[in-house]
Order: sequence, then structure tokens, then C-alpha cells
Amino acid sequence: MSKFKNIHVIDMGTLRLPIPSPSNSLNPPLTDLAPLDTIDISNLNRQFLFRSSDVGKFKAEVAARFVQNRVKGVTITAHNKRIQDFDETFYKQFQLVICGLDSIEARRWINAMLVSIAEEYEADPDSIKPLIDGGTEGFKGQSRVILPSITSCIECQLDMHAPRAAVPLCTIATIPRQPEHCIEWAHVIAWEEEKPFPSLDKDEPEHVTWLYQKALARAQEFGISGVTYSLTQGTIKNIIPAIASTNAIIAASCCNEAFKIATNSAPCLGFENNYMMYSGNDSIYTYTFKHEKKDDCPVCGRKARPLEVDPKITLQELVDSFSVRPEAQLKKPSIRAEGRTLYMQFPPGLEEQTRPNLNKTIIELGLIDGQQVVVTDPAFPLEFNFFFKFKEA
Ligand SMILES: [Zn+2]
Repeated sequence: MSKFKNIHVIDMGTLRLPIPSPSNSLNPPLTDLAPLDTIDISNLNRQFLFRSSDVGKFKAEVAARFVQNRVKGVTITAHNKRIQDFDETFYKQFQLVICGLDSIEARRWINAMLVSIAEEYEADPDSIKPLIDGGTEGFKGQSRVILPSITSCIECQLDMHAPRAAVPLCTIATIPRQPEHCIEWAHVIAWEEEKPFPSLDKDEPEHVTWLYQKALARAQEFGISGVTYSLTQGTIKNIIPAIASTNAIIAASCCNEAFKIATNSAPCLGFENNYMMYSGNDSIYTYTFKHEKKDDCPVCGRKARPLEVDPKITLQELVDSFSVRPEAQLKKPSIRAEGRTLYMQFPPGLEEQTRPNLNKTIIELGLIDGQQVVVTDPAFPLEFNFFFKFKEA
């Protein structure tokens, strides 16, 4: 008995039924055709707190009730909302936060929230709410502990989550080695050449089936096995399957860290080693290390960080680059320099006013090497401070 008495759980999603599939020549099983981005009855195998009678209900509520019925003396409060729907006062009431989030945006948000709580009440040790974060991707996973404002935070570690590198087109076009390469070939090359339908709809079973058959034929040609309908659907939609056993391992690690933090019964991840990587891809491998805090972290650091910029690019190109820069990953950035607004995404009036700047180059805008700029994004409750470091293209 771990004696956690009061737990709040936040999740917005509901359990859904699969969408019935139209029949086709391949007859994939019904559940195989349900969109992968919704939780459906076929996921009940790995969502072990849920039963088929729960389909249509809020996941947080069902999970809370299940655990509360099973563990005597615990009170679990369910919130069918987004984590962003709660403010500082809400998060301040807890001792620690455990995250099993599905996006890096949500992780960055809760991280920024907990760091700001810690910084606002600097002298108060109770304002440090340890953040335990778990995540999985197929056979891989990680669990890490962040002591907000004290140790390396999620924003410091953002480069650990850089967007996945794409498979080079030449591999796809010439020598595929993996089933995914054959699927990408069908997706980017065969589809373009043959145009079997006017435009590709990744939710349309007929279209996915066409890609699947093309990929399968190519895989057979190169002696590659493993091309399936669901892998085709997952690959073209860039979805990595959730694996119940990986989730269980990472969830257990997160629970153990929470227990160790609450009880001091054994050294927890945190001050020294703070990041545990797990890989089940090739046998089993784990590695635990200390990720260092960054002085120029926009969330927990105090310094502006350098932003490499070719002064001949336009502001539009700079704005677009924020979504792919591993250190920023901002989708809707607004940018201002000292005393002037360069580009604002919102409100519409200001967007229109600043839009002409997008076509101007950094030089034309009169911005200089070493220029301090502030970047904001509606997804994050903070400002990113950068200074330009000019480079030639
Ligand atoms: Zn940080």
C-alpha cells in the first residue's frame, strides 16, 4: 500500500467505438480500420482499466472509479479537461505531478507552469512540485524527474525530442531495407506517378488499401516482410503504435519515482541522475544519466540564447524556421525586437499591420548581429529571448 490518499487525474478524451469499415477485397479485420488517433474498442487490450461497457464515457472518470473501487482509502477526482484549462492555484495544491502526455506541447506547457510556480515563491520549499514525466514511442520510452527551477527542465531537454529525421528519398527510391521504406515509396512516389485518386485522403480505406497493395508488392520484390495494412496506415499518418508492455514499464518507473519522492525510501531520480532511457528495440537496454540545466533555457534560465540567422533571409523564412528548429519548435511564433513589433500572429488587426514585414529580409528590417528578439507562441505561457548570431547561408 503506497498510501497516496488524494489523487487528481486530468484527461479530456472519451472511449469511442470503431468506425465501421466498407468492405473491400482485402477484408482487413474491422478493428484494423478504425482511425488510429481515436481510442476505440480495439484498444481495450492495452487500456486495462476500461471495459467495453465504458465505451463513450470519459476516460479520466472511468479510470478514477476503477482504481477507487479497488484501492481502499484513496480519493480520486477526475477532470475531463485539458491540463491548460487549470491555473496556478490549481497546480499549487499538489505535492507532485506525474505526466503521461501525448504531445511535446503539453509537456512544455505543464513544465513552464511548474517552473513559474517555483520561481514565484522562491523562498518557499513547498512551491517546488517535482514533475515526473513518462513517455513511450513503440518499444522505446523514457522517464525523468524535474525539480522545477532547480534541475534541468523539459525545455532544457527539448533537443532530446527533436522532430524525427526523415528517411532519405534515395533509400526510399532505390534500396528499401525496411517495410516502412516500401510504404513511403508507395506514398510519395507510386501515388504521384499513378494518381489512382484525385487526392490522397489518409482516412479513406480505399486509398490506404491502394498504398498497402503497392507497398506489399514492392516489399515482396525486395524480400522484405512486415508490410501490413495497419503499418501502412500508421506510417503515412506518422503514427508509432503504442505498446502495452512499454507503457507498463514506463508507468511503473514513474510510480516508483513518485513513491520514492514521497517517502524517501530510496534515492529518486532528480538532483543527480534525472533521465532514464529505456529501449526494448534490441533486447532490453536502459541508461540513466544527468541532463544538465541550461543557463539560456527560456523557461528556467536567465540568459537570452543565440539564434543562428542568415541575414539575407526574409522574416517569413525566419518565422517558418521556428517550427523546425530543434531548440524552438514553435508553430505560431510572433516576434518582436526592442521597441518594435516585427510580426504578430494575433490579433488579426496587428497581424495585417505587421504582415508586410514578412517579405523583407533581416537586413532590410534594419536588424543587426547580436540583436535581441523576443518570440512568443500562443501554446506557451512564456517568452523566448534570443539574440541573432549572423551566419552566411
Ligand atoms: Zn530549463
